[in-house]
Amino acid sequence: MRKPIIAGNWKMNNTASEGVELVNAIKPLVKGAKCDVVVCVPAIDIPAVKKALRGSKIKLGAQNVHFAEKGAYTGEISANMLKEYGVQYVIIGHSERRQYFGETDETVNKRTLAALAAGLTPIVCIGESLEEREGGLTEKVLSAQIEKDFAGIEDFSKIVVAYEPIWAIGTGRTATDEQANETIGFIRKRMKKAYAGKNVGKMRIQYGGSMNAKNCKGLMAQPEIDGGLIGGASLKAPDFAAIVNFDK
Ligand code: PEP
Repeated sequence: MRKPIIAGNWKMNNTASEGVELVNAIKPLVKGAKCDVVVCVPAIDIPAVKKALRGSKIKLGAQNVHFAEKGAYTGEISANMLKEYGVQYVIIGHSERRQYFGETDETVNKRTLAALAAGLTPIVCIGESLEEREGGLTEKVLSAQIEKDFAGIEDFSKIVVAYEPIWAIGTGRTATDEQANETIGFIRKRMKKAYAGKNVGKMRIQYGGSMNAKNCKGLMAQPEIDGGLIGGASLKAPDFAAIVNFDK
């Protein structure tokens, strides 16, 4: 059985003090959580949030990582730098990074391998645009991402994949339970074929895209869905806690 994992992506919201306030509000609400709980925070919030997370089982995550170990990459942060601060998870290849910061399948792959080498758990985002879905290209697009983004990985039990249809992110338009389940089922099947013998069966696949306190139960009841990557709803403690407690 794969343990569910709910991760919040705070994006560029919350200063460090606001982040601490949010964590302090979330902590008592998720005490009895049976799933893994992660908050992926802005890099500069990491030290303060790490301190605030003490005494809870909530794990600390980042939102990006550079692929080089060190060097002349102004403004970037390496996997070892994150690791030293107690970061355990890192989101890689979020569609906003692909759209606004020139992230490509090649850099997603390099960042993923660098994160794994440092002992971080990458949460690798893949997904199709609205035009691609409406044009019947979803499986083709996902297959290309699967081939390129995950090349060279030896043990897939050490990564998490987030299936995030771009048209559902921050739009309030969620994939239906069936759509999400079917597409995640396709991803798992395709990855098992492409990376046979590399523990793909143990890899968790989250759904991400306007998941909230109301729709989380239906999505999480689907057999293929192992968790959620949550944007907007992760910024409000009661909403995030309701998703974490989807099984209660
Ligand atoms: C995200 O950005 O990963 C996301 C799923 O955002 P939202 O939940 O706001 O759609």
